[in-house]
Amino acid sequence: MAEHKKGNMKFIVLLTVFVIGLLTVLVVFNNKEKQEEVSESTSENEAISTENQPTLGDADAPVQIVEFGDYKCPSCKAWSEQVYPQLKKDFIDTGDAQFTYVNVLFHGEESFLAAKGGEAVYQLAPESFWEFSKNLYANQPESHDEQWVTEELLLEVAKESVEGLDEEKFKENLSSDAVEEAVNVDNGLVEQYDIQLTPTVMINGRILENPFDYEKIKSVIEEELEDRQ
Ligand code: CA
Repeated sequence: MAEHKKGNMKFIVLLTVFVIGLLTVLVVFNNKEKQEEVSESTSENEAISTENQPTLGDADAPVQIVEFGDYKCPSCKAWSEQVYPQLKKDFIDTGDAQFTYVNVLFHGEESFLAAKGGEAVYQLAPESFWEFSKNLYANQPESHDEQWVTEELLLEVAKESVEGLDEEKFKENLSSDAVEEAVNVDNGLVEQYDIQLTPTVMINGRILENPFDYEKIKSVIEEELEDRQ
């Protein structure tokens, strides 16, 4: 009897240990899953309408990449110089992805003016937008808090970026309702997609947590390409 009881006790202890172990595994697994969800952080959104937006690459490309950028933002300058060239080479030039730039106005009047500069060029010479964008970021000073975006600078950058620029037309565009409206459309997208940081990079509606993590960018694009095969 005593032996039997002892056996029972042993069984209960073993069962308890087993149940605790199982619960621990479940809790850890569950947390891990939660963590992965957070680090994925790809809130699913619908594809953005790229109508009247500067868009580079094959219009029929299966992957849509959208950068929400602000010419006054140092991280945007860094992203455009450090990450974008590789992205362009690997996925845009190959026809896998198209790339769209949308203005964000987190730094007030200068962001607004710079965005208008981009839209003015886009309306005048769409294919020169990318050169203008690159050259405008190149003009961002290290102490980015100082005022540097002026109409004079935008004209200089436009002259540098657009072959045979019609200067008068550019100046006219800069203060036109159409250009202001284009910037407002971008601002509407920023609100619609609840963009909180610049740069924000969205791939087929998935917002990346860290746009500087190129390996992650690659894996998300490759996943999207596989899904469409
Ligand atoms: Ca735009």
